[in-house]
Amino acid sequence: MKPLAEPAIDAVKKKRIAFTPQRFSKIYYNWMENVKDWCISRQLWWGHRIPVFYCDDCGEMTVSKTDISVCPKCGSAHIRQDEDVLDTWFSSALWPFSTLGFPEKTAELEYFYPTDVLVTGYDIIFFWVARMIFSGLEHMNRIPFKDVLIHGLVRDAKGRKMSKSLGNGVDPMEIIEKYGADTLRFSLVNGVAAGSDLRFSEDKLEGSRNFMNKIWNASRFVLLNAQDKDIPDFESCRLTVADKWILTKLNRVIREVTVNVKKYELGIALAQLYDFVWSDFCDWYIELTKPVLYGDDENKRNQTLSVLIHVLAQTLKLLHPFVPFVTEEIYQNIPNHGESLMICEFPRYNAKNNFAKQKGDMESVMEIIKGIRNIRAQTGAAPSKKVRLYVKTDKKKLVKDTAQYIEKLAGVQEISFIAAKEELAEKTVSQIIAGFELYIPLGELVDTEKEIARLKNEKERAENEIRRADAKLSNNGFLEKAPKELVDKEREKLNKFIELRKKIIAELKSYEN
Ligand SMILES: [Zn+2]
Repeated sequence: MKPLAEPAIDAVKKKRIAFTPQRFSKIYYNWMENVKDWCISRQLWWGHRIPVFYCDDCGEMTVSKTDISVCPKCGSAHIRQDEDVLDTWFSSALWPFSTLGFPEKTAELEYFYPTDVLVTGYDIIFFWVARMIFSGLEHMNRIPFKDVLIHGLVRDAKGRKMSKSLGNGVDPMEIIEKYGADTLRFSLVNGVAAGSDLRFSEDKLEGSRNFMNKIWNASRFVLLNAQDKDIPDFESCRLTVADKWILTKLNRVIREVTVNVKKYELGIALAQLYDFVWSDFCDWYIELTKPVLYGDDENKRNQTLSVLIHVLAQTLKLLHPFVPFVTEEIYQNIPNHGESLMICEFPRYNAKNNFAKQKGDMESVMEIIKGIRNIRAQTGAAPSKKVRLYVKTDKKKLVKDTAQYIEKLAGVQEISFIAAKEELAEKTVSQIIAGFELYIPLGELVDTEKEIARLKNEKERAENEIRRADAKLSNNGFLEKAPKELVDKEREKLNKFIELRKKIIAELKSYEN
C-alpha cells in the first residue's frame, strides 16, 4: 500500500485535489499516512471474481485476463478458478475510469477523465475516496477528480443515526410518494452546511412542501394572467420603479447563488433563493403588479406581464438544480421559452440590471406600507376598511408616483401631505419611519359610533357588577356568616370592576372631540 498511498497523499497536499469542507482532508491524511497492506479478496458470492486459476495435478497457479481450461505448465484439464471475489471497495475504486470504458481508450474516457467533483458522505472517505484516488493515479496516471464535496449523514429527529435495529429509518420512496421528490431534495439541502449532519423531520418536509406550493401558485398566477395576451419583448419594456426594484433584487440573488454554488455552499444558496421567491417575488412584487394587471391600460399590463415572466423564468433557472421537476413542469408552460429548462444557460449577473436609486425608493415605499399595516394591526382596523393617510415628508414626488402601491397594499383611499402634525384637527394614530411621518385619523381606523356604543355597554355592565358586590359587602349577615375566602374574593371582584370602569371612562373621553 505504501507506494500507492504516497502519490495519493501528495495529490491532496499539493491541492490538485481539494476537500470541501477542508477539515475532512485530515481524516484522509490520517488513514493514508498510517495505511496497512490490504487484503483484497473476500469470501462472498457477489463481486468481481479473482482471475486466478489452479492446476489440481501439478499445483501451478496462473493469473489470466481470459478464462483458461488447460494448465499452461503440464497441459492438464483439471483447472479451477479461485472462488474468492475482490473486496467491494477494490471494485468501487475503479469507478471513475471503468465507467468510462477503461481499459479501452474511449472518447468518453478522454473527454470526462478526470471529472470535476465527487460527492459523498464523510463515513467513506477512506473506503471509497482514498481508494479511487490511488487507483486513478496508478491505472490512469492522473487524479480521478478535482473536488471532493463531503456531506453529512441524515439522522432522525432526535439526532440518532438511522438503523434497522432502532427502526427509525425512513424509506425515501414513501416520502416521495407522500411529499414529492422535489420536496425531499429541497429538505436535504435547504439551510444545511456541507459536511454537517442533518436531522430529518416531517415538520421540515411540510415547510418544504409549502414552498413548492408557493412556487406553483405564483407561477400559475403569472401564466393565467399572461394567457392569450400579446406580451412584448422584455428588453423593449418601459420599467416601473417596482420593476426596477425586483430586477435589482433578482440580479443580486443571481450573484449570491452563483458565488455560493461555486463555493459548494448549497444550503446558503438555497436559503437565499427561498427568501427571494417567498418575500421579494411573491409577497411584494406580485402584489405590486396587481393594480396594473387589474387596471385598464392594456399596454402597461402587457409590459408588466413581460417583466413578471422574465423574473419567473430566471427564478426557475436558479431553482432548477434544487427543484428539478416542479420548475421544469412550469417552465415548459411559459409561452415562447425554449423546450426544456434542463438545457438553459444558468442566469448571469448583469451590472446593467442594477437600479440603486429605484431600489432605495421602492424600499422606502415598502416601509410606508409596512408602517400603515402596523397602525392597522395595532388599532384592530378591519382589513377591508379604507383609510385616509397624511404624510409629512420631503419626498412628495416619490409618494405621488407610487400612490397606487400604497393605496392598494395598505388599504389607503386618499393621501394628503402636511407640513406639520399640528395641522391635523382630528385625533390620529402615527408611525414615524426614516424620511416619513405617517398619520391616520383614528376615526378612520375604528367605527367611532359603534365603538362608543360598545364602551357604554361595557361601562353599564361594570357598574351593575359594582352595585351587586357593594350590596353584598354591606350586608352584615353575609360578612358574619361567609367564610373569609369568599368575602376576600368578593372584595377582589369589586376592585377589579372599579378599575375596569375607570379605564372605560378614560377611553370614552378620548372620543369626545
Ligand atoms: Zn498443471
